[in-house]
Amino acid sequence: MAASSASAASAAGGASSGDVKVSEVKDVSRLERISVHSHIRGLGLDDALEPRKTSEGMVGQREARKAAGVVTRMISEGRIAGRAVLLAGQPGTGKTAIAMGMAQALGEETPFTMMAASEIFSLEMSKTEALTQAFRRAIGVRIVEETELIEGEVVEIEVDEPADGVGDKTGRLTLRTTEVESEYDLGQKMIEALSKEKVTPGDVITIDKASGRITKLGRSFARGQDYDAMGAQTRFVQCPEGELVKRKEVVHVVTLHEIDVINSRQQGFLALFAGDTGEIKSEIREQIDARVAEWREEGKASIVPGVLFIDEVHMLDIECFSWLNRALESDLAPVLVIATNRGITNIRGTEYESPHGIPIDLLDRLLIIMTRPYSAEELREILHIRATEEDVTVSDDALDLLTRIAQGTSLRYAMHMITVSHFVCRKRQGAEVDVSDVRRVYKLFIDVKRSTHFLIEFQKQYMFNELSKKDDDDD
Ligand code: ATP
Repeated sequence: MAASSASAASAAGGASSGDVKVSEVKDVSRLERISVHSHIRGLGLDDALEPRKTSEGMVGQREARKAAGVVTRMISEGRIAGRAVLLAGQPGTGKTAIAMGMAQALGEETPFTMMAASEIFSLEMSKTEALTQAFRRAIGVRIVEETELIEGEVVEIEVDEPADGVGDKTGRLTLRTTEVESEYDLGQKMIEALSKEKVTPGDVITIDKASGRITKLGRSFARGQDYDAMGAQTRFVQCPEGELVKRKEVVHVVTLHEIDVINSRQQGFLALFAGDTGEIKSEIREQIDARVAEWREEGKASIVPGVLFIDEVHMLDIECFSWLNRALESDLAPVLVIATNRGITNIRGTEYESPHGIPIDLLDRLLIIMTRPYSAEELREILHIRATEEDVTVSDDALDLLTRIAQGTSLRYAMHMITVSHFVCRKRQGAEVDVSDVRRVYKLFIDVKRSTHFLIEFQKQYMFNELSKKDDDDD
């Protein structure tokens, strides 16, 4: 999710913003469900988007990771918005992990909102309001704010006009504000820099005043994209009198939802921390959309389409699905990533069944990424990474046993066992988890299969159980 660092209200002021405010907010949604996926640091792809065997905490699932990488790359390059991607596969095959990997790969500036579909159903607001808020949380507004320079601060200077004697070259300088006393001075420094170093348009160069050394910072971005890459920069503008006017531009990214909340509640941005945002009036949203459109026209803001990830999407009902279908058509739509582990099942709110419980018309517009079950080797590697993440040393034999348990039960169950086995190991003052610790935990905590078996065996002794009622009816 996007994080802004300071009030961007003055950017709004510059655009005669009236009552639309933007203020400091803190990223909270990225903290969600972080613990079980804390070993995931990205999608583990190389620059050509090829999956490395094990990288950034990611193991196997190569095709799905590569497909997610292609989507992520297109999002970062601003080449898709309003599209939807479905991650489909059996439980525990890494769908949420891949979504987390996408969030990490996109970086802090791209809004990424995660939610479980069941969160839509709340008493505080309608389903469509909850979905609208989620959508707007996944759309960032990059606002350019102009501030005065502080004397002595290190700034960047963009020189648009070719400096005398250096042909058609243009470049930039990074200097202290106190170093440039006049336009002439600036020109001299440009010439000096350009003649000593091979500088091509778009390069960033630094001059150290004390030593006179010129350092080339490299060609990290093309002209015109510099605000995206840098976050903050300064431009020198020449005044008619020939003086240098220094202007510093600071960029904030806030989400449309944050702007909505700040402008709709008496307590302003504090509502964001309390989570008590309530329903937001449609007039407020229309007013904000109009204001953002104005800022965009004036070049003071741009839209950053982010990602809305909805896990367990089969929990949505037909009304939500049709809302999503329509909302994806809007020009302010994020990329929607949804995940499910269901096969052919009922579409909630209808009598119909469909693949994944998703209506066919929505399915038809999805890019579908499948996740597949893991091999024993991959399960072992994931368990090993997880043990390292939790600072637990596990013997080779114990890791083999955990892998067999993961194959027979589930990856999640085996992962839980790492933490508890460590506890058991510490109680006996052992240095590493061994087979006896894992066996002990296996006996103490049963997995779903054993639990189901137990229930079937003893169901008659439980209250209100359906099977005994059926048996009675049959008698
Ligand atoms: P469900 O359908 O039940 O929601 P899921 O497909 O979303 O399951 P995850 O929650 O992503 O599965 O995976 C279960 C656990 O295994 C998580 O802790 C996740 O981080 C880890 N995991 C899954 N796949 C991988 C992988 N390829 N590499 C590393 N860790 C993984």
